[in-house]
Amino acid sequence: MACNLNVEVIINEHSVFKKKSLIGYVKDELLKRTVLRLGSKITTFELEALQENVEAIFICELGRENNSFEFSGDGSTVNVSDVDLCIHIYRLNREGAVAESIGGDEGETTAATHYMLPATSFHGLWESLIFDSDIKTDLLQYARAMLYLSKCGVNSQLISCNRVVLLHGPPGTGKTSLCKALAQKISVRMADIYSQAVLVEINSHGLFSRFFSESGKLVSRLFSKFAEMAADPRTLVFILVDEVESLAHSRASFTGNEPSDAIRVVNALLTHLDMLKEHCNVMILTTSNITGAIDIAFVDRADIKAFIPQPSPFAIYSIYHSCLEELLRVGVIIGTCPDKMKDRKKFLDVQSETSKHLGIGNTEIPLIELARESEGLTGRSLRKVPLRVLSTQLVPEKVIRLEEFIAAMLTVVKQMKSEQL
Ligand code: ADP
Repeated sequence: MACNLNVEVIINEHSVFKKKSLIGYVKDELLKRTVLRLGSKITTFELEALQENVEAIFICELGRENNSFEFSGDGSTVNVSDVDLCIHIYRLNREGAVAESIGGDEGETTAATHYMLPATSFHGLWESLIFDSDIKTDLLQYARAMLYLSKCGVNSQLISCNRVVLLHGPPGTGKTSLCKALAQKISVRMADIYSQAVLVEINSHGLFSRFFSESGKLVSRLFSKFAEMAADPRTLVFILVDEVESLAHSRASFTGNEPSDAIRVVNALLTHLDMLKEHCNVMILTTSNITGAIDIAFVDRADIKAFIPQPSPFAIYSIYHSCLEELLRVGVIIGTCPDKMKDRKKFLDVQSETSKHLGIGNTEIPLIELARESEGLTGRSLRKVPLRVLSTQLVPEKVIRLEEFIAAMLTVVKQMKSEQL
C-alpha cells in the first residue's frame, strides 16, 4: 500500500472550478514532475487550468499511516509514483479579524476576536514555527483523531475525548501561534467534512474588566453566540483561550464569602466551555505560561497537554536560517545561504568542533556558533534579532553581505542576553 502525501493547493479569488476537477488537474501536473520535494512550493504550472486558478501548490508531509515509509522531514524527496496524493484545495479568507464586543449597563468590551479560516493572516504560520520535537505533526494527528471520534458519535464516558488541547511552557515559545496555526491547518485538511471554520480568540483580560459587575451574564451572552455558530454541523469552531492560568488565578484570589465578579466570570466561562463541548464540531485550544497555576478542573479536561520548551541550538539554527532566507529573498542582504542542516547529530558534531573550524570563511560555522550563543532566548526574541541588527548595527539601505549580517547578529544576541532579567 502506498503512503499518503499531503498536498495543499491555494486557489485564487476568481476560480470557478469545481474542487473535484481541480484535483484531477493538480494530480496531472504533479505526475509530470516525477519527483517532489517535501516542504516545497510550486507557483509555475504547465497546465493552463492551474495557471488561471491556482496561486500555489505546497508539497507538505507524508502521512504516518504506513510504517514502510520513513516519516521524513522537509527537504526529502519522494517519487510521485510511490505515493497516494492527498490533495486539499482551499481559498484564503481575506476578511481579517472581527472584534466581538459585548456590552451591558456599564460599558462595552472586546470579549473575543473572530477569524474565518483559512485566514490570510495565518498563512505560512504553521511552516514558520520550528520545534525540536514532532509536536506539530503529533498535534495535527491528535486533533484530527479527536474530531473524527466525535463526529462518529463516540460516547465520551467510554472513550475520553473532550477536544481540549493545552499547550504550556515559557512565554514566547510559540504556543499561541501554534494553536492558531493548528486551527488553520485543520480547517484546510478537514474541509471535505467542515465547509466552514472559525477561530474565536477569547480576550480573558477584557472579560475581567473591573467595570463589569454583570460579567457572568455577559459571558453567557457571548457563549450563546458561539453555540449558534456550532449549531451548524458543517462549521468547525475553534475557541482559543490564551493564558488560561489567568482564569485559575482569578478563582484562587477568591477569599470572601460572596463570589467576586471575577470568580463569577471564571465559573461561567468554565461552565460554558463544558457546554460547548457537547457540540462535536467545537475544539478548545488553550495556552499557559505557568502550568502549576492552572485550575486543576481545567487541566483534567485537556486531552492533550503538551509542554513547549525553549528552542535548542538546533531549532534556533533553523529559525535563524529561515530569517536569513527571507532577508536574502527580498534583497536586504546578499550572499548564498548554506543548505539547511537537517541532521541533528551532524549539527552537534560540528558544534563541538566549532573552534577548530573558525578560520573557515563559509557561513555555516558562524551560523552554528550564533545558534549556540543564542541558547536561552525564546522564539519570539530570536525573530526580533534581524530588526535589531538593522536598527542598531548596520545601515539597512547599504549592501550587506550575509557574513557581515551574521556577525552583527552575534553582537545583538550578546546584548540581548545581557539585558535578560
Ligand atoms: P507564546 O504564546 O508561547 O508566548 P507566541 O506564539 O506568542 O508565543 O510567539 C510569538 C512569536 O514568536 C511567534 O509569532 C513567532 O514569530 C515567534 N516564535 C515563537 N516560538 C517560535 C518557534 N518555536 N519557531 C519559530 N518562531 C517562533
